[in-house]
Amino acid sequence: MGTDTNPFDSLQEQIDDAAAYLDVGDDVIERLKHPERVLETNLTIERDDGTLERFKAFRSQFNGDRGPYKGGIRYHPGVTRDEVKALSGWMVYKCATVGIPYGGGKGGIVIDPDEYSETELERLTRAFATELRPLIGEDRDIPAPDVNTGQREMNWIKDTYETLENTTAPGVITGKAIDSGGSEGRVEATGRSTVIAAREAFDYIGQDVSDATVAVQGYGNAGWIAAKLVEEMGATVVAVSDSSGGVYSEDGLDPVAAKEHKRETGSVVGFDGADEEITNADVLTLDVDLLIPAALENAIDEELAHDVQADVISEAANGPITPAGDAVLAEKDVYVVPDILANAGGVTVSYFEWVQNRQRFHWSEERVNDELETLIVDAFDALTETYEEHDLETFRAAAYVVAIQRVADAYEQAGSFP
Ligand code: GLU
Repeated sequence: MGTDTNPFDSLQEQIDDAAAYLDVGDDVIERLKHPERVLETNLTIERDDGTLERFKAFRSQFNGDRGPYKGGIRYHPGVTRDEVKALSGWMVYKCATVGIPYGGGKGGIVIDPDEYSETELERLTRAFATELRPLIGEDRDIPAPDVNTGQREMNWIKDTYETLENTTAPGVITGKAIDSGGSEGRVEATGRSTVIAAREAFDYIGQDVSDATVAVQGYGNAGWIAAKLVEEMGATVVAVSDSSGGVYSEDGLDPVAAKEHKRETGSVVGFDGADEEITNADVLTLDVDLLIPAALENAIDEELAHDVQADVISEAANGPITPAGDAVLAEKDVYVVPDILANAGGVTVSYFEWVQNRQRFHWSEERVNDELETLIVDAFDALTETYEEHDLETFRAAAYVVAIQRVADAYEQAGSFP
């Protein structure tokens, strides 16, 4: 797989591809291709055995023209400065694509969290929150969950920030547990928008998602919820995978039972509700109607793209297709709903959580899901309108045309300072 593609190069290429169709000066485009600032820090914590260990961590604040920096924090051994920069840029264009009033940021710690105890992870998270404290704030930069982080880590960050600031500020972070100021529907939101976007894409090409066969690569929070919700729409989930491998059943498998198996054993591999075991690469190249990459960047590179058989791809992961892979898929007329729209449900419901926090008013799950549906469908319609207007090759280029224009307008309307 194309693991040597630098995600930051991918981001810049995606911006350049769209820039050709925009009435935005090269000087402004240049500004929109680089983060405003990146914090690189070393966190040293005490292990449970009393020894010390150092971890590298980053927070990239890419662009704040449309509002506070916004984006998750991931814990992964593969985190790099360039990966975090790319992910923070994708957040800028994601928030602009769906029209929520945020810029973009991202953070990460280089760690394999499975190797550490809960108390060690708490110390590390609180150390990072302490380091982030001057940079973040309800109106400044609002972190959230990403790969290998969730409500637990968000609650620790909120508590650390509030304790140090001697205040209450639930809106400093999103993705919290409900009793700590979280929103209904936030956990499901990324998977939910991924399947809403897929449904709209099938509709656009005159097909019905309920007739689709589906493969899902990655069975974390985004992937497994997408599998469950697309099955509820009537589609047939034939294959799912995680980093250990995949499982396949021609007649479909039960996404909830597969998740239960993963919860018990750590992987979907060995799930007895499936007919056969397959590799991670097999999952991406199966003859299905819908493919949902829900793991990490660069899953589908140029070489693998030649073997993709799906009609529609909805990107639950950030950056799962390299630019060269994208070009191959476009030639093959595979419709790719890009990450910056497909998985935008996560940050959209983060925005709803933040609004609820600011108003100290809790919304019902029905309201959250209704507002999410409206926002994603409207964003998809704006995307297809631009796709047709400029006769673009990909939905991704269309999303970037919409998003870059919005960020550039905000920048130009603000004027220059200093
Ligand atoms: N980490 C998620 C993403 O990549 C969510 C970010 C957020 O909620 O701010 O979009």
